[in-house]
Amino acid sequence: MNFKVSMAFVVCMSFAVLSCVTGGSSPPSLVTVKRTQMHMGTLVSITAVGRTTLEANAAISAGFEEVKRLEQLLSTWIPDSELSRVNAAAGQSAVLVSPETMTVVRKSLQVAEMTEGAFNIAIGPAVDAWNISAEPRLPTSEELAALKPLIDLHEVHTDVWERTIYLQKPGMRIDVGGIGKGYAADQAVLVMKKAGAVAGVVALSGDIKTFGRLPDGVAFPVGIRHPRKDGEILAEIKLQDEAISTAGDYERFFEKNGVRYHHILDPNTLQPARGCQSVSVIAKEGVWADGLDTGIFVLGAKRGMELVEHLADVEAIIVDDAGRLLISSGLRDRVVITSDNPSRKQ
Ligand code: AMP
Ligand code: MG
Repeated sequence: MNFKVSMAFVVCMSFAVLSCVTGGSSPPSLVTVKRTQMHMGTLVSITAVGRTTLEANAAISAGFEEVKRLEQLLSTWIPDSELSRVNAAAGQSAVLVSPETMTVVRKSLQVAEMTEGAFNIAIGPAVDAWNISAEPRLPTSEELAALKPLIDLHEVHTDVWERTIYLQKPGMRIDVGGIGKGYAADQAVLVMKKAGAVAGVVALSGDIKTFGRLPDGVAFPVGIRHPRKDGEILAEIKLQDEAISTAGDYERFFEKNGVRYHHILDPNTLQPARGCQSVSVIAKEGVWADGLDTGIFVLGAKRGMELVEHLADVEAIIVDDAGRLLISSGLRDRVVITSDNPSRKQ
């Protein structure tokens, strides 16, 4: 994953659980604990509801261990991660990978199909050329044109039976930064349930997966950040056994001559995608929410919302390039707009 330290919160958890507290009107035995650590280049907050503090803490520790384990497989910042080894062997050989890496790559290819190629994990060489997360720079159009043949998903070969991945052209690089955090949130929830948590939330910055309800019976409230008003919440929604992911052009960007250059790239132009300011996707699983937020951001508000309306169990809140707010039909009764003047368009 092309993760570098990003302190920007895309979506803020807004429920009032900061440390070990017992729920007010809840069954007396339920305890809620929240802890935060730095992983995958971002702040990871895990909240667990358990029957005891010990149980809730054990579930949180298991969740963090799972995130760390997946980072070792998927991060392209770790030179000997599985994906780094796949990238290093581009044009040379297929690389044996874990079931988890295979799953993320296969699901990435599915999101690519759903979004007509707008989501493209072969984007790695272009991500490196812009280097937005480390030392941002403006690549020349010649440089980007030379990289274009490498951004080709047809050259990403996955062999599910052999469990290998082969990138056919030298110089190709896959980058699952647009989907991996959502997948990690799903997997962390699975281990937390195994560890005995009755409910909880895993939030890797703006990629959030919830399960169950808070001890007082309330679903987990989540705030969506205003893309142009720092520190302001645009909308709130309550989630139960759902994931939400937000992709925004304000997360990682630089400005030159009044133009904002950000980290979500259009695979056609290899330039930052221009159709949206932010896209929040709600789905049952984080892996779909995360993959789709990036893909829909590239598709743009209109085509993106059309796609959402065609997909079962997928909803979205989009702020388009002009700052207008679009809410998918299945969400209109669930979203509370908290910002004063977002122009609403349905
Ligand atoms: P997200 O915050 O989920 O939108 O993910 C953004 C990250 O996804 C970027 O930092 C890149 O690592 C990667 N990325 C950028 N553009 C694309 C794209 N068109 N398809 C897939 N991944 C992308
Ligand atoms: Mg994403």
